[in-house]
Amino acid sequence: MSIPDSQNYNATVVARIDYTPSLRTYYIQPDQAFEPYQAGQYVTLGLESSVPRSGEVIPEARPPQEGKMVLRAYSIASAGFENEVLQFYVAHVPEGTLTPRLWTLEPGDRLQLGRRITGNFTLENAQTKTIVMVGTGTGIAPFLAMVRQHAAVRPDVRFVLLHGATRRAELGHHGEFRALDFALPNFVYLPAISRPHLDPLWKGQIGRLTVFFQDQGRLLAEKARVHLDPAKTDVYLCGSPGMVRDISTILEPAGYQKWTRANPAALHVEEYWKDKE
Ligand SMILES: Cc1cc2nc3c(=O)[nH]c(=O)nc-3n(C[C@H](O)[C@H](O)[C@H](O)COP(=O)(O)OP(=O)(O)OC[C@H]3O[C@@H](n4cnc5c(N)ncnc54)[C@H](O)[C@@H]3O)c2cc1C
Repeated sequence: MSIPDSQNYNATVVARIDYTPSLRTYYIQPDQAFEPYQAGQYVTLGLESSVPRSGEVIPEARPPQEGKMVLRAYSIASAGFENEVLQFYVAHVPEGTLTPRLWTLEPGDRLQLGRRITGNFTLENAQTKTIVMVGTGTGIAPFLAMVRQHAAVRPDVRFVLLHGATRRAELGHHGEFRALDFALPNFVYLPAISRPHLDPLWKGQIGRLTVFFQDQGRLLAEKARVHLDPAKTDVYLCGSPGMVRDISTILEPAGYQKWTRANPAALHVEEYWKDKE
């Protein structure tokens, strides 16, 4: 164990996979199992502010108040029926407040897992039976949950996952998605890397994920037989504000509107952080 326990903690890290020095999946067991949740929902993780920051860090953009828990939202990557041990796919942010503290966690360490699982970024809110999921970096976390929970048991729904990263090592969970693509006729996996000079052996798609949507979605139609029409295809965007903005802008002229509870529509957005003003 590497960090002191706290009475505010209610969960234990049971395992961890490191994809790169700044990308990890944590397996976290709550002291009490959760009720099943919907794939795509999120919950908070928290650590005491006294936990030291680790990894490659720079001064904190939002220093915590002394004696306060530092809490942030994380999409649950495990399927809703896997509620005994939850998975979280997390990126280390050098100027961050929580993630450098999370980076001290070893199996056996304790932390706080919020009791309230929430969010509308779920397949229950889809309008159609063709689902295009677009995730940059750890933005694939809710799609891991969706694919794990639904793809094998919903043969009537087509799932297409566009997974973007700078290089292959940062395509965390790539192997699982590739295996599911081979195994399931209703699941298509299309990874793309944006810095091929870092990965000269990469044979797949190159560029940012916007490449799939340009020219009225020509590449998406070619590779996955998907048509960008809100009456036929739901699009789920998750990750960086830049990707969300760029793809939303391309989709608007095709008639896509952002889903809200008051206006259910075919464009679903989960933005992990806001662009600096
Ligand atoms: C609904 C929801 C679900 C989320 N799920 C996940 C998830 O599954 N995995 C995950 O890694 N993150 C997820 N996030 C982001 C997460 O809540 C934190 O914002 C992130 O981990 C950074 O926390 P921090 O305290 O280290 O940095 P903060 O102190 O919160 O932020 C420091 C600065 O970094 C910027 N920033 C925040 N995140 C990133 C990033 N990933 N890359 C670059 N800059 C960033 C912020 O704008 C800010 O300027 C989610 C956010 C939301 C709203």
